[in-house]
Amino acid sequence: RTEEPWRPFNRSRVYMADLESALHYSLRVELAAREVIEGDALNALNKYVSVLAKYFPGRPTVVNLLKSLNSWLQNQTAGQISYEAFKKVLDNTAQAPNAALPEGVRWVGCQGSQPHFRRYPCGMWTLFHVLTVQANVTGGSDPLEVLNAMRNYIHHFFGCRYCAEHFENMAKDSLELVYTLESAIMWLWSRHNRVNNRIAGALSEDPLFPKIQWPPPEMCPFCHTVSKSGEHKWNNEQVLSFLVSYFDSSSILTDYLE
Ligand code: FAD
Repeated sequence: RTEEPWRPFNRSRVYMADLESALHYSLRVELAAREVIEGDALNALNKYVSVLAKYFPGRPTVVNLLKSLNSWLQNQTAGQISYEAFKKVLDNTAQAPNAALPEGVRWVGCQGSQPHFRRYPCGMWTLFHVLTVQANVTGGSDPLEVLNAMRNYIHHFFGCRYCAEHFENMAKDSLELVYTLESAIMWLWSRHNRVNNRIAGALSEDPLFPKIQWPPPEMCPFCHTVSKSGEHKWNNEQVLSFLVSYFDSSSILTDYLE
């Protein structure tokens, strides 16, 4: 297999190409492992697509597609769907003009130095950080809407099963402490850092992208402080304003889109 050429990118920016690639992989590859989706898994899929339709800050054609997929799903009353039927709506451009999700993946900020590094899991983290920020910007009514959708999607469908288990444990432990849209942003940030901490140095780590407590001081100097005893402390207010601007739709770069 010939490798794709490396796409130069800015390490301190978010790319729409990664978000669309994550959507493609999730909706066309990960879900395709199921012939039939029903019960709790179907509820999880419904909430996931509904959150995407509501908050994905994408190109108009992609948002239209997510909306048409969402209305199709909400109209299903049989208690189960076949993946084949879902895929028809996903790929159908005739039914909803100006609605399409590009085929294939084009990783940019989520490229790895080897094909088994980064990519889809990186895209999913990025996607959910963006969605928590979008829900806050647009004033979503339920602070847990995005995180619950993520929790249930990961639990039912995410291919990395031990990742799903770890994430479910973190959600069980502390998701109930999230009362505001801002604390939802902060919860995801801090749990992502816990994962970074746990798996730093593991074989799954891309040597060109070491796991760090993020954002590093170069990216956000004011996020970092030192307590009287000399220990590192986050300045949560600064972290929140950093996240809100870093993952804002206006900061997302559109390089390398089809
Ligand atoms: P990622 O951790 O994927 O992060 C992507 C990008 O997000 C980074 O490049 C950076 O720009 C930014 N970022 C980094 N940290 C933060 C933060 N705290 N807040 C906001 N943005 C940040 N792998 C395991 O080996 N074990 C696990 O238990 C595990 N659990 C996972 C659970 C979930 C829900 C997901 C989506 C993935 C999980 N993974 C796990 C995969 C792992 O976390 C990484 O996604 C993967 O190793 C690729 O790492 P990466 O270098 O691309 O950075």
